[in-house]
Amino acid sequence: MSILTKKNELGFFEIRLESIGGMGANLAGKMLAESGVLGLGLNGSCFSSYGSEKKGSPVKSFVRFCEPDVDIRDHSPIEEPNVIGLFHEALYKTVNVLSGLKPDGILLVNSTRSFEEIRKDLNFPYGTLAVIDAMGIAIDEHTKVNTSMLGALFRICDFMDPDSMREVIRHTFHKKYPHLVEPNIRTFDRGYQEVRFQTIEAPKGATGIRFERPQPLLGYETQPLGGIIRTQGNSVLKDLSGSRQGFLPELNLDTCIDCANCDAVCPDLCFVWESGEDKKGRPQMFLRGIDYQYCKGCLKCVEICPTGSLTVRREEAGYADSHRVAHVFN
Ligand code: SF4
Ligand code: SF4
Repeated sequence: MSILTKKNELGFFEIRLESIGGMGANLAGKMLAESGVLGLGLNGSCFSSYGSEKKGSPVKSFVRFCEPDVDIRDHSPIEEPNVIGLFHEALYKTVNVLSGLKPDGILLVNSTRSFEEIRKDLNFPYGTLAVIDAMGIAIDEHTKVNTSMLGALFRICDFMDPDSMREVIRHTFHKKYPHLVEPNIRTFDRGYQEVRFQTIEAPKGATGIRFERPQPLLGYETQPLGGIIRTQGNSVLKDLSGSRQGFLPELNLDTCIDCANCDAVCPDLCFVWESGEDKKGRPQMFLRGIDYQYCKGCLKCVEICPTGSLTVRREEAGYADSHRVAHVFN
């Protein structure tokens, strides 16, 4: 009897992980596939797509499973997955993360927010939403987000055997990093146990979310005269918040001495200044805040600040938006 309860017309159960470079989605995909192949005897494949391969840029990892008597001859990116794992919820601002999700598909999101808030932001009206505070677990256990996400993914893929994953974790870490074996197993187990689910039945005849292949914004026929590129690489419109990995700098203006060291090290000119006069009436620039739209969370500013006015804060939903001091461009 088949252990794969859901399969597409080619006989595959498919998973797509949406993440950013540095969060470990590639490794998570490999470990998931290894566990299914070695632990359950399934046929499986896994590969990733990295874009520019920079830490902080979007990454996708694809995992396919099928019965041992089915050959995997399809090595194309997964367009209509059964499960989508969203490692970084802010990604939805720049990437169509739900593209192609089947009507009975499951979306797993790394978040501390409520089901309702996530559904509204992601425009995900029906289907099963799974939510796990993967970052919180990783912080508690001094491990990585990908292991807690794997725990939640195993709960979702109920044909998978958690013991085989524990074995893969031991096998992956025991030689070089034996001290990481137990914390990672704890992280995996917590991801498995702490994931929450909410299902809203799809209406009759629902077809799922249409797959859309991303198209270049500008091309031969659509570029403006002179070939000026107005958006790509343009720092005015760029939103880098999707590159943050769960932390951002918090500014306390009461202790700030306007030394501008933070401004000198910030790679994205996030600090917003205003001209004024010092106590003697001489012109001076005063720091007013951080434009979080451009902040990728590198935390170089925190390291350099001589007064401790910048500290590391775990990112919570809505904090960056409500504390953003926006640049004004004329
Ligand atoms: S963490 Fe600090 S230095 Fe890094 S991008 Fe954000 S504001 Fe700039
Ligand atoms: S480095 Fe610290 S003290 Fe100096 S301007 Fe930036 S926040 Fe203020």
